[in-house]
Parts: sequence; structure tokens; C-alpha cells
Amino acid sequence: MSFISMENITKRFSKAGGPAVNGLDLSINKGEIITLLGPSGCGKTTTLRMIAGFEHPSGGRITIDGVSVFNDSHSIPPEKRGIGMVFQDYALFPHMTIIKNVMFGLNKWSSREKKKRAQEVLELVGLEDYADRYPTQLSGGQQQRVALARALAPKPHVVLMDEPFSNLDAGLREKMRYDVTNILRRAETTAIMVTHDQKDAFAVSDRVVVMKDGIVQQIAEPKEMYRCPKNCFVAEFVGKTNLLKGKLDADGQHFHTNIGKVMLPQQFNRHSLDEVKLSIRPEGCRLSDEGAYCGAVERVTYGGEYQELHVRLHNEPDLRKDPMLIYAPVEQDVEVGTTVSFDIKSELVALVE
Ligand code: ADP
Ligand code: MG
Repeated sequence: MSFISMENITKRFSKAGGPAVNGLDLSINKGEIITLLGPSGCGKTTTLRMIAGFEHPSGGRITIDGVSVFNDSHSIPPEKRGIGMVFQDYALFPHMTIIKNVMFGLNKWSSREKKKRAQEVLELVGLEDYADRYPTQLSGGQQQRVALARALAPKPHVVLMDEPFSNLDAGLREKMRYDVTNILRRAETTAIMVTHDQKDAFAVSDRVVVMKDGIVQQIAEPKEMYRCPKNCFVAEFVGKTNLLKGKLDADGQHFHTNIGKVMLPQQFNRHSLDEVKLSIRPEGCRLSDEGAYCGAVERVTYGGEYQELHVRLHNEPDLRKDPMLIYAPVEQDVEVGTTVSFDIKSELVALVE
């Protein structure tokens, strides 16, 4: 049985507007790190707040560790759900020392136990030497680790984090993704994070839940989500891609597009497909002297680890259409206006709805 389950959860804030969350089903295993990913307004925070008990669903059921915390007839209040929250702005008390901040959520414990547990979690987040400092004396990343320590201190069933990295600049953000994942793993806790950033989601999670307009689009492990997105929205939200219209070949193994015939990663049954497109990741195109496809380079953008090429295919010179986006190694000399040829790796090709 799953550790946390949400069944057919819907939330309407008003009768007039559409639901903020619509028929969400989600099962989470113990110790799993799950991320809700989607654009602003798609219902991520509302979902998190319903799990926490700050918001009542309009319908559906929620179970945490075998206990029904919400259904048609009852709702357990937030403080009885065994939830640890990490807020976007950390919400530390500025007038309290770090250790006092961490002890705050342990009011039912004896003072000796409180101190012992607070020291334990500060050690877990690597801040045992900062116990007597005040929040303002710590860096942003350290404050975030304190917030996480405070959330973990009461040994909650699940830690909930809403956009935990959004206040951090790029370099620190990357480090915190790494640190937070390590801490959650060491604590062996179950966690649900909310973010609109695909990199946050992929770096931290066992599984990612992509949402749009209150509706779950796909639930998958990061690699699966990237390689086999279910629809165009997911394909574009989790990375850059080329979406091409076309038709499945009779052999079920190739797709005919304007740029030519493309080999698929597996055989598809044409009867199960109506309107499908082909998604080709930019790094799935590999420059090669005798590649099967060729076109003119319209633009080269230096991306650091790779260069982004915009290539206008020779057999599709329609200027109203987007050129193909291809990643090439930085050491390769590519000039605007020259012709390049390339192959397409079928592992980075997917059929999408
Ligand atoms: P996200 O966290 O994905 O950005 P939210 O869950 O905050 O999205 O919001 C989902 C939708 O619900 C939005 O359209 C938002 O305007 C609406 N919404 C959220 N909270 C409230 C509220 N308290 N009252 C009315 N509408 C709300
Ligand atoms: Mg939000």
C-alpha cells in the first residue's frame, strides 16, 4: 500500500471559475521524493496545501501513513497530520537562535529531548557549529538548511517544500539542490516539493508529476519523463525539443515528417495513434559528415557546454516554420550560412500526443 495517497482530489475556489486542481490521483511510497512541476497557476501550491490540511479539497480522499486525513465526512487538522513544512522565505524567527528555531516545533517533547533532537538534526544538515547564532548571521543556503532541520526535527511523516530554491541565485541554487537531496535521503524521509523549474525537479526527485491547468499530465522518473514525454506540453516543459508533424510508417518503426523519415525507438501500433507528433531532443541530433539529414545553419548560439544551432532543412525551406534546434559540441567549428549534415539518435525521439 502506498504511504501517501490522493484519490480524485478536486479543488474549486469558486463556483464560476474552473477547478484549481482537477481529479488528481497520486500515490507516494515511503521515503520517496516527489516533485510537482508546472507553470505558475497550475495548482501545485493548492495541492501541497491540501496535503498539509491548510486547504480543504472540494472532493476526494487523502491518506497519510494508513490514516485517512481527509474524506467526504472528516478532515484532520494540519498539526495532527505529521507534516513538516519548508517555506519559500524559510520563515525563521529572527529573534531566536538557530537551535531555538529548530526546537520550536518540538513543544510536546521534554527540554532534554528537545535539545538532543535539535542537535541531531543540526548535525544532519551540517550546522552543528551554528546553534547559538541568529538567522541573520547565516547565508541564504545555511538559513534554508535550518528551515529544513526545523521541518525534520519532529520526525514528520512527510516534508513539504514549496519552491524551496526560488530565493537563491543560480550557483547556490545548484548546491542546495544537491545538499537538500542528500539531507532528505539521509533522514530517510518522504518529501513532496513544488517547483516551476524543471532542473530543480529533475535534480531532486525520484518521480516528477507534471501539471497543467490543475490536471496531471504525466507522472514519471526524470529520465523517463525526458525521453518519453506523453504529450507536447510535457515534452516542451521539461526541456527543449523539436516537435514535428507527420505520419507513422506502415512498419510502425518509422515516422514520416517534412524533414524526412525518422527511426523510432520502438515499434508502435498505428491503430492506437491518432494525432501524434514527433519530439526530437536537440542533443539527439548529431552532426556527421554523412548524416541522413542536411540543412543550412541560420544561427549559432554559444551555450557554454554546447552550441545551439538553428538549422533550416534543405527539404523544408519554409521560412514560416521554426528551424531545427541542434546541439553541437563546442569544439566543433560551425559557421552561419554553411551546410551541415546530421543523424538523429532514436533514443531521444518520442511520439507525443
Ligand atoms: P501554482 O502554485 O501552481 O502557481 P496555485 O495552486 O497557487 O498555483 O493556484 C492555482 C489556481 O488557483 C490559480 O488560478 C489561483 O489563482 C487559484 N487560487 C489559489 N489560491 C486561491 C485562493 N485562496 N482563492 C482563490 N483562488 C485561488
Ligand atoms: Mg505556487
